[in-house]
Amino acid sequence: MVSKETAPEYAFDASLEEVHHLILNYGWGEVYPDQLRQEAGSAIADAMDIARGGRFDSTPSQYPDGAWFTYDDWTCEYECMVTEYTYWAHTSLLGGQADRFDEIGHEWRANTPELMRSIDDYATSILQDPRLKLPKSLPDGNYRGMGLSTVDELATTVPTATTAPPETTAPPETTAPPTTTTEVINNSVSNDFKIDLINFSSTPDSDLMNWANFASDKMSERTSNILVVAYNIGEYIGEEIPGMPFNSNEVILSQSEIDLIMAQTEQWLLNDPCMSEQRGHRNEELESYRFWLENGADTSTQRGLCEETRLVMMAWKDGIETWNLQRFLVHELYHAFQRDIANEYCNDTIERMGRGEHAHAVVEGAADYFTFFTADEMYTDADRQNYDRIGYRGPLNNLFREASNLINEDRSNDVTGSGIATRAAIMVRLMVEKGWISHEGILDGSFHHNCERADLNPSNPDFVFAWENWFQFENQNEEWRFSDSILSN
Ligand SMILES: [Zn+2]
Repeated sequence: MVSKETAPEYAFDASLEEVHHLILNYGWGEVYPDQLRQEAGSAIADAMDIARGGRFDSTPSQYPDGAWFTYDDWTCEYECMVTEYTYWAHTSLLGGQADRFDEIGHEWRANTPELMRSIDDYATSILQDPRLKLPKSLPDGNYRGMGLSTVDELATTVPTATTAPPETTAPPETTAPPTTTTEVINNSVSNDFKIDLINFSSTPDSDLMNWANFASDKMSERTSNILVVAYNIGEYIGEEIPGMPFNSNEVILSQSEIDLIMAQTEQWLLNDPCMSEQRGHRNEELESYRFWLENGADTSTQRGLCEETRLVMMAWKDGIETWNLQRFLVHELYHAFQRDIANEYCNDTIERMGRGEHAHAVVEGAADYFTFFTADEMYTDADRQNYDRIGYRGPLNNLFREASNLINEDRSNDVTGSGIATRAAIMVRLMVEKGWISHEGILDGSFHHNCERADLNPSNPDFVFAWENWFQFENQNEEWRFSDSILSN
């Protein structure tokens, strides 16, 4: 250690780490060998094996998916790894690493007390064992009486601990685990509001982020931070998920991958200005997400957690067609862009107007309307061919055709029939063609800036007309359109 490292103005105080190594090796490890001896066989070494996703005598070239301690310095052998691990676990548990995820996440991901308790409960139980009387707070330069003052003394009189790995060794790039399983992808898009991605699907991050940014760029203004949690599911099992329109499927994720998704999601919520303040709400949401993940739920949902905090959770089978996945993502994201759907005032207003299925249909219809038009711009020629071998004829034509198929499917003219979003998108289209709402307003999201949708309620005769006549369209010479009688009415 050089002086710059122990008295850094902006960076992290490295003495905290090196001194910790020292007293661990020559102090606690000697006194509590069963728990803390810095070699194989102690409880803390076992905990490390779990955190690394297996027992590795030397540093593996790649850690298993879901590992949360992934230090990749090959000069650091097993004992050295135990020391590094104990340092991370202990200081994280004491809150000393909470703001450092960006800096240390490639090596250590359980960086807060909450994450330690949720994903590394074994180390937590060891380090909090009351019999060990380990420090309950970190040294901060203000010492009183006994206890931690010895730490400070050691720091100034003893040379650098030999077990510390060389600080200059840059981790080789190739040994880093794949991005998809290790970090929250953060892409800042328009208006300073972020879309972050936790992607445990086999679809590349770059594809999902490109599509998300494409959709986001259509918005005239965005005011929410969005987290997209994406994963794959296996074969359909079909048991209903209580309280949600999801079904169970074969779980493809490993338990440690699920734990990692949960840890990263929790971290994101804790970093959010609104959700960080709402402990009960946060834990309730997290409990649902875990349940869905562990049951292979075919999630497709946007959670309006706070007015400006949205979470999209979506699961699909690997091998889904690209056009289909694009549509899925764009639809859910549009909900996250819909500014007024998590606005209390707007929702109260709509409630007073008589909620019913109408409000739901309008929100879904607008989302699918946006989706058909926007996804159309994203399709490559190959996507289009793949989409529809009998000929894809543009977004509007396609919207009509799919709605027509839905009507034939369940022989119902109700907006609320199967595929409500696509049916309601036709209803939205009818209102656009009638001049009652603006096509551009839906596509740039401004329709949702001032609760315009509150006007679309059962006491509005125009809306009732659209609700009752949306299905009056036909195919004339391969061109789908509303019936003349409807348009002239
Ligand atoms: Zn929807």
